[in-house]
Amino acid sequence: METPLKKNDRYEVEIIDIGAAGEGIGKINDFIVFVPSTVTGDVAEVHIIKAKKSFAYGKLLRIIKPSPFRNDPRCNTASQCGGCQLQHIAYSEQLQWKTKKVKEALRRIGGLQHIKVEDTLGMENPFNYRNKAQYPIRKENGEIKIGFFASRSHRIVPSESCVIQDIRNERIIQVIKDFLTQYNITIYNEETHQGLVRHLLIKTAYHTQEMMVCLVINGKELPHQDKLIQQLKAVEGIKSIVLNHNTGQTNVILSSHITVIDGQDYIIDNIGDLQFKISPLSFFQVNPLQTKVLYDKALEFAALTGTETVWDAYCGIGTISLFLAQKAKKVYGVEIVPEAIANAKANAELNGITNAAFYVGKAEEIIPKMYEEGIAADTIVVDPPRKGCDPKLLETLVAMSPEKIVYVSCDPATLARDLAYLTQNGYRVDGVQPVDMFPHTVHVECVALIEALSS
Ligand code: SAH
Repeated sequence: METPLKKNDRYEVEIIDIGAAGEGIGKINDFIVFVPSTVTGDVAEVHIIKAKKSFAYGKLLRIIKPSPFRNDPRCNTASQCGGCQLQHIAYSEQLQWKTKKVKEALRRIGGLQHIKVEDTLGMENPFNYRNKAQYPIRKENGEIKIGFFASRSHRIVPSESCVIQDIRNERIIQVIKDFLTQYNITIYNEETHQGLVRHLLIKTAYHTQEMMVCLVINGKELPHQDKLIQQLKAVEGIKSIVLNHNTGQTNVILSSHITVIDGQDYIIDNIGDLQFKISPLSFFQVNPLQTKVLYDKALEFAALTGTETVWDAYCGIGTISLFLAQKAKKVYGVEIVPEAIANAKANAELNGITNAAFYVGKAEEIIPKMYEEGIAADTIVVDPPRKGCDPKLLETLVAMSPEKIVYVSCDPATLARDLAYLTQNGYRVDGVQPVDMFPHTVHVECVALIEALSS
């Protein structure tokens, strides 16, 4: 049956659920309509912007009756910018929705009905939590704009005061804007591939308050860079100013080519008792307070006694590895980004940890190779990117048959897929703990404890 809903029609809709992308779901005569910026319990006036066969997309025009779960967003561009899909939902309700999202992914994608999923661990103050921001810089109608891309577009929503970023970023954005204007520096244009300045990347350290500023440019040199350095150095905490040279015709923000123009090529932050060097290209968890919560959970699940050999697959700059190393006999970390492994080795040294070894390469290649050479593990921690573990890695895990696997996941869908494989191959899932690393967004991180059936 074709949807009777027509583009540009208006309806009064009651929202009955929230979809996986955070959009409200309503029904108009049995046809589903997705309405961003609404929440279960809202009654809203909706403008149909796209009508498909069995569902439609609508734009919120007006809330007729607000849901008890509705929250006034702190940020006045929350509904335009693609960053926070859930800011209009009360935080406690966001957490409940995340728990449900994990349960549903396990059931629907993994066919796993009876796994214990704990309540999502949230933040006390879920604002200004991010330690990394990547702002596109564009010129629109002659005006320099620094902000975020609007949802599904490359139009910039200016972001002088994003409520999830470090508040110190506002000052940096202003300095960069003034510099670019004052010296008439050209701004990158995606269509013509002309113009110099493409992106601004800021990394901040929560505990040490150090900052790194990285300007991504479509070329080799930044004119008047000394002036920029001078202006940035007036901001307290800046330890590293770098250029990233990205001349590719690509949406990828960073190239692998970095020049340090002032200070160090890293900043330092702490997690718990350990210190970490963070470089422009290496991955570091973006929410420092919740990272501690996540790692503590991973460590609790690993329940190490000091005798174990442990693999940390997808180890980044060695954060989880070094936590594990304090409690294990030996830890091996593997990671694909060479700079991250250089950081991991430096981090082991910085913290006086001598029982951790790190390898550059694909986890699905290095771990099987080392297994053939006789290195097996009692416990394996995996923390893959969103696409989950490579099948070859999962096969090796099963062959190696560690007693415990601790799976840290940033995507419940691929977690569900991989847990299904493990449960069909000699393992059981003892529990899944969601942790809210990304308040106000639809993302949810999980730690799962998986044990061999024979143990
Ligand atoms: N455990 C780390 C990093 C997790 S993010 C932390 O908590 O900080 C996932 C990491 O996997 C990234 O650093 C990414 O560079 C790396 N990666 C992606 N594909 C990989 C692969 N096939 N093999 C090894 N590492 C990979």
